[in-house]
Amino acid sequence: MELESLPDEVLASIADRNAWRSQMAGSDTALEFLVSDLARWQPGSAVRVAFLDGDTALHADVAGATRQISDACNLELDFGVDAAGNYRRWHENDTFHAAEIRVGFNMGGYFSLVGTDSTDSTIGPPAGPVGGRPNQRSLNLGGFTTERPERWEGTVRHEFLHALAFHHSHQNMRGSCEAEFRWDDDQDYAPTTNAKGVFIPDAAGRRPGIYTYLAGPPNNWPRAKVDHNLRTVEDPAVVAGPFDSDSVMLYSFPDFFYKSSPSSCAPTGNGKDLSAGDRRGLALLYPHAAERLGDLQERAEAALAAMDGAGSSPETVEAAGGEYRDRALELLHALSGKGEGVGR
Ligand SMILES: [Zn+2]
Repeated sequence: MELESLPDEVLASIADRNAWRSQMAGSDTALEFLVSDLARWQPGSAVRVAFLDGDTALHADVAGATRQISDACNLELDFGVDAAGNYRRWHENDTFHAAEIRVGFNMGGYFSLVGTDSTDSTIGPPAGPVGGRPNQRSLNLGGFTTERPERWEGTVRHEFLHALAFHHSHQNMRGSCEAEFRWDDDQDYAPTTNAKGVFIPDAAGRRPGIYTYLAGPPNNWPRAKVDHNLRTVEDPAVVAGPFDSDSVMLYSFPDFFYKSSPSSCAPTGNGKDLSAGDRRGLALLYPHAAERLGDLQERAEAALAAMDGAGSSPETVEAAGGEYRDRALELLHALSGKGEGVGR
């Protein structure tokens, strides 16, 4: 199985931008907002979606699968269906954003940028296929035009939750599940692959561990990437609730990834529908209640004020620092209710 992952160059640009935001956040408590809240869209707004390829039937199915999401929060996903029933399109030569969320089906694998990174021009290499610029994909559902995975609705919801600023919950396991993973090969495992080069159990039935398995195709992940994607991170940016084993944000791994079977860390949801925890998370990010919206606006305003005093952060002032700052200001203006919606 192919695990979800953004291209390495895209991850690198996100890490650089995050380093700048963390640095700013460290200079003033009001600027913690940059790390904790800038990924979310303005509650109550309409976030546009456009497709690069695929036909109307597929577009309608994807849009239909996202309805569970928009039903659970104060945010509209606007698919721009015209009078003839055609869905909004984006193109790889666009010079301004046809939509905040730009979906493609023609790259391998599944992935999405997180929230407002989808329209952030500092994310992804300028000439690459994935990033925040108008001519780049922000969300990919590889192969959906020819064959959809089992429980494809769950895949669509998983990626769209990323697009609405959700992170993963497998990295929110408070340590217990990290110990539950079979990181290493069974003792004396003799490396064995099938015709496609995928690591499989050897003749004696000894199994590859996670590191070995993911080092082979189709993932080809070096050890550091496995750690980055699967080891628990204590990231202050991630709002961590209790481990939600029903969440569609939980990866579904093959059985041999776990030490025990059935594992207490394996997903218990049906792989398709949002869990109660997913819905709660959505309602927290995009609340209906005026009181909560007011609170978000106030904190965004406080961060805006603090930005004025903060100057550019010292170490990354050059080129990118200015861009990061402009983008942060744009997002803060939107969230404080004083600016236009982002990307419009
Ligand atoms: Zn994911």
